[in-house]
Amino acid sequence: MRVGEPEALRKAVAQLSRLAGVGPSLARRIVFHLLRRTPEENQALLDSLRHVLQAVETCSVCGALSEKSGCPVCSDPDRETDVICVVEETRDVLAIERSGRYHGQYHVLGGALAPLEGRGPEDLRIAALLARLESGAFKEVIVATDPDMEGDATALYLAKLLKPLGVRATRIARGVPVGGTLEFVVQSTLGMALDGRIDLVAVRRGWLGTYEINGTRAAWARQVAIGPIGPIRQFTRTPV
Ligand SMILES: [Zn+2]
Repeated sequence: MRVGEPEALRKAVAQLSRLAGVGPSLARRIVFHLLRRTPEENQALLDSLRHVLQAVETCSVCGALSEKSGCPVCSDPDRETDVICVVEETRDVLAIERSGRYHGQYHVLGGALAPLEGRGPEDLRIAALLARLESGAFKEVIVATDPDMEGDATALYLAKLLKPLGVRATRIARGVPVGGTLEFVVQSTLGMALDGRIDLVAVRRGWLGTYEINGTRAAWARQVAIGPIGPIRQFTRTPV
């Protein structure tokens, strides 16, 4: 009889393979690695996983991950209540908090628009954002999605939705490298980007293309008004 993998091992690999970024071969390596560790080490890992799943949840207001005992931002009475910062993930909230320049509310979208990956507006917490804004409590929305193609497309989509609400919409700008990820931007740079934010203007029609602005090459999902800028060199453009 041909010897195959034990059923339990196959099941564990199948479960791990379903995690984001973990394929079958990495899942198999993890399981084999775990089987080589001591029972005490594995028990500590299992306990910490069980604890995080029990103790951490998504805040029903801002969408950030927080202890079940209460969201540290939404439950803080000392924070500003008339400004809200829209980010893609909880890690971006933590990055902005590390900058120490922002003391308002947050709204975590849970990602950015990515049509090629099948992620549309209904997959993000956009309806929840609009519901929060309808209360009229916020004077400004700072859109701090990642400065990459998807983040910019999301910012422009939001600008269009926010325009009729009459709320000021701004986008973090200066100091954030194009194509970067907020999580890895140094604290002072992110602080500058928050201070130097610019009004986000919705354009009805635009261009998909690559531009060079003030010597920095940038890809824009759509043309966006970014305030006083230098000469724009254009490489490609397609109407959208
Ligand atoms: Zn919250």
